[in-house]
Amino acid sequence: MPTDAPSGTVTETSSGVRRAALVINPTKQSTDEVRQAVERVSAEDGWEAPLVIETTKDDPGSGQARQALDAGVDLVIAAGGDGTVRCVAEELVGTDTLMALVPLGTGNLLARNVDIAVDDPTAAVEAAFRGTERSIDVVHLTLDHAQETQVFLVMAGLGYDAAIMSDTREDLKDRVGWLAYVDAGIRNLPGEPAHASISIDGAEPFECRLRSVMGGNCGKIMGGLEIFPGAKIDDGLMDLMTIAPKGKLGWLAVLGKLFARGKGRDPSLQYYQCLTAEVSLREPLAVQLDGDPLGEAKHLLFEVKPKSLRLRMPLGYKDPAIVSDPLP
Ligand SMILES: [Mg+2]
Repeated sequence: MPTDAPSGTVTETSSGVRRAALVINPTKQSTDEVRQAVERVSAEDGWEAPLVIETTKDDPGSGQARQALDAGVDLVIAAGGDGTVRCVAEELVGTDTLMALVPLGTGNLLARNVDIAVDDPTAAVEAAFRGTERSIDVVHLTLDHAQETQVFLVMAGLGYDAAIMSDTREDLKDRVGWLAYVDAGIRNLPGEPAHASISIDGAEPFECRLRSVMGGNCGKIMGGLEIFPGAKIDDGLMDLMTIAPKGKLGWLAVLGKLFARGKGRDPSLQYYQCLTAEVSLREPLAVQLDGDPLGEAKHLLFEVKPKSLRLRMPLGYKDPAIVSDPLP
């Protein structure tokens, strides 16, 4: 784990020249611009010609990231949507290899939290090579006691939140962001709150009825909304929020509290900060990770892995969501 990664740990390939890998989703727009920018900046900065690997429907980033690691590259640039970023991060977490992102999706959740340009792929490529570097936390999530764990970088949701993520119409998601989620939420309203048992940091579990549980690594989602107020991406803690609105009008209170950045005493929203959280449900609910629907689960184990991913960010980045100094 590169928790205390020493300075200057960018390793050089056998030829002594550094090399980047570009893991790119070819179905997105601007992919030619991204390839050309990565080739140009590699050449300008004296790096070897990049390794360019396209994602596929069957392998949206994991196999490509492993291929890049096997090739011994110094930097892996994930160019695509949140799914590509998550799959690449899943392979790079715990390694010394640097990750960077070029957002080409609609959500671009991590990029929005760390000030990476979401509408300027060339600027994002330049930041990938010439930006500053931090180690960020990653949250591992185990579903239904499975052997394999998933990771997320921004947030995971269970229940109402995941249902709207998978239900939200793509065209709306594109144009009006968060409002589309609210629209989908209103359409999803019927049904009973779920019975849940939640244990925070291994403590005695408490019982509650809720519509949604969200785990957060950083706070911002679309529309500039900060869903986990004050969450830091590198403080070694994850945030957990339970949403339990009372009745149909209760959603108004939840939304009001969200827009008020979590201030107030509405019991319909509860926040926790922790290292681990375990959620057990009587009935399975839909799960999403960084916006990717992952089916349903009855049991979720969240575990934060502090500073386990080295990430390139734009120079001059000063967002309060990051507490640490840049790595030298
Ligand atoms: Mg945190």
